[in-house]
Amino acid sequence: ASTVRQVRGTLSLSNWSVLQTSPVSHLSGRQVGVLFDVDGVLLRGGSVIPAARRALRKLVDQNQSFLFPVVFVTNAGSCLRHHKAQQLSHLLDVQIAPEQVVLSHSPLHMMETFHNKCVLVSGQGPVTQIAHTLGFQKVVTMEELSEQHPLLDMVDHSRRPTSTPSSSRILPQIQVAIILFGEPIRWETNLQLIVDVLLTNGRPGCVYDTRLSAQMPVLACNMDLLWMAEAPSPRLGHGMFLLCLESIYRKLTGRRLEYEAVLGKPSLFTYQYAEQLLRQQNQNHKLSTIYAVGDNLMTDIYGANLYNRYLAKHHTDTMSDTKLVAQGTGTPVPVVEEFAFAAQCRSILVCTGVYNPQSPLPGDQNVSETMLHGQNDLKVEPDLVEPSHMVEDVEAAVDLMLQQESPN
Ligand SMILES: [Mg+2]
Repeated sequence: ASTVRQVRGTLSLSNWSVLQTSPVSHLSGRQVGVLFDVDGVLLRGGSVIPAARRALRKLVDQNQSFLFPVVFVTNAGSCLRHHKAQQLSHLLDVQIAPEQVVLSHSPLHMMETFHNKCVLVSGQGPVTQIAHTLGFQKVVTMEELSEQHPLLDMVDHSRRPTSTPSSSRILPQIQVAIILFGEPIRWETNLQLIVDVLLTNGRPGCVYDTRLSAQMPVLACNMDLLWMAEAPSPRLGHGMFLLCLESIYRKLTGRRLEYEAVLGKPSLFTYQYAEQLLRQQNQNHKLSTIYAVGDNLMTDIYGANLYNRYLAKHHTDTMSDTKLVAQGTGTPVPVVEEFAFAAQCRSILVCTGVYNPQSPLPGDQNVSETMLHGQNDLKVEPDLVEPSHMVEDVEAAVDLMLQQESPN
């Protein structure tokens, strides 16, 4: 505790003017960035975990500015980024900018090649608005598609068309991509329409062509199979929806559904994007260490450790391919232009959320099979779900970071 106080003393006294002109991750001359998971670390349901307010108070100066670059990374996605930033600011009593928030879909900002193409979006909440704010210009929702092709959605008898529609207006062909933001409300409708679009190459009014040589690109956000709400047992998440879609696709075509990209933790895209935001807060200066605090072994810890492996690989051999890392997600990782990457990413597990030291899930294998969407034959290596540190709550995580980064 004394080292922590010493660090804070240094920050608030002699270096004050320096600190105001350049953001402070200069404790001991190192540049540190922090990634916080939200649910189970800072919030539980709609309420704040008490340690979270105390933890964040230790990370801001007297002007309420963060002492380190800080980014909040969540797999939630049925909302807009600035709304999430407002909600967090309000609940946590600190000022959090939209640029400090990474939702599961946020890395789509980086995928500019898709931005001027027509995309079909699946999910709930303001999906069209979300797609527009991410940069997509031509967006078609499931509702619009269903309206234009009323004969496709037949499960709910009460929603079937009562008379044969004369002629449906032809929507722009969905030439380029399908974006799966999160679990939809009517799974059966979305499963049917997505399969229709995939098997007709974007012309759902036509007959299936199961011999299609190339599959339309699919971008999927949030692969969590289960998530914890107020119910005693976990709820089905978007990963479970993807599992259904993949099974149907395989049954009909004999082929595996391929993803152009899978986003959200533990995907590398998400960590690359989050590091980019940390670096922006650090005036584009390179970071030495990124601390990632989370409550879920299979998303937060696995993701942070995988990213650490990626950073290590990057530093030992920047010219080599990323095969080693790609094995972890099963998704090919794009070659990111030469940036000043952080030296390492340390994972910190807290015990206020999904992970419960008193009742661990039965068996490691079970953890990986039930908590992570195992698409593309993903194999979880035991050392990737081993946290660098395990602490009680987020306040203890912050104390640990300050101690680790203390000059003495
Ligand atoms: Mg969490």
